[in-house]
Amino acid sequence: QAKQAGRDTLRFFDPAMQARLHARARLEADLRQALARNEFLLYYQPQVNADRRMVGVEALLRWQHPERGLVSPGEFIPLAEENRLIVPLGDWVLETACRQLAAWAEDPATAGLTVSVNVSAQQFRETDFVARVLATLERTGARPERLKLEVTESLFVDNRDEARETMRLLREHGVSFSLDDFGTGYSSLSYLRRLPMDQLKIDQSFVLDLLADEACAAIVVSIITLSQSLHLEVIAEGVETEAQQGWLAAHGCHAFQGYLFGRPVPVEALALDT
Ligand code: C2E
Ligand code: MG
Ligand code: MG
Ligand code: MG
Repeated sequence: QAKQAGRDTLRFFDPAMQARLHARARLEADLRQALARNEFLLYYQPQVNADRRMVGVEALLRWQHPERGLVSPGEFIPLAEENRLIVPLGDWVLETACRQLAAWAEDPATAGLTVSVNVSAQQFRETDFVARVLATLERTGARPERLKLEVTESLFVDNRDEARETMRLLREHGVSFSLDDFGTGYSSLSYLRRLPMDQLKIDQSFVLDLLADEACAAIVVSIITLSQSLHLEVIAEGVETEAQQGWLAAHGCHAFQGYLFGRPVPVEALALDT
């Protein structure tokens, strides 16, 4: 027993582990400075309809680190969620996305575009989340009808009543909600019945294996059917090939996002019909 514990303790001080802990601490320290240093930027990825016309974009956060270059959200969002930096960071994302919406509203060619913004559970659960979103819309002049908030199933595991109330209040003002990475969470489907949701977003892992794996295909068909029965919009993410789009369209999904239509890019690089 003691020998076992001794070995574990030794492993903790293993140099590779030490290096990883150090790197993580460095990244966290850098992350704390990054907002003030203006190192974040938003990329936008097109969302298209059946005619492949861009109808909206998803805003995806990037961190331009002075030494590391572009850091992807998969690396720093989990860290920001742990230390609650995600709250001010989420505010920045919302503000930036709403400014973009307001700018697009000036031109008839872009005025109809929607922007989907990812919202973390911690951010959503802040007691003043509704007030913050409404204040941001007001301040920027963005139309609430053009703003979609992407949330994940994890929000509804507990605090379901509070989540529903938050959504209800924002929807009253015209904001809509999309359920991101749908099908990958672990909560029961019954919560969907009572949530004021507008859109289901089929997770890219199902789209990836759609044509190779019958189980994936079956799950996607179920999600599309479910969205139709519940009168929800449905969008597929991670669409990379014509074959995937063709299959999805044939099975009733008419909104798409993925590399086939465009990668996430800075706003200047978006192909806008202006
Ligand atoms: P997500 O919201 O599910 O975003 C979709 C991810 O899939 C993005 O990764 C996007 O670049 C990638 N993607 C899009 N099309 C394709 C495709 O055709 N093939 C493949 N293989 N990938 C595709 P990204 O930008 O690295 O973001 C990763 C995750 O980080 C997001 O997943 C989201 O959960 C989170 N995230 C990004 N921006 C924000 C943000 O502003 N706030 C919060 N809270 N989370 C964010
Ligand atoms: Mg998303
Ligand atoms: Mg997603
Ligand atoms: Mg995803």
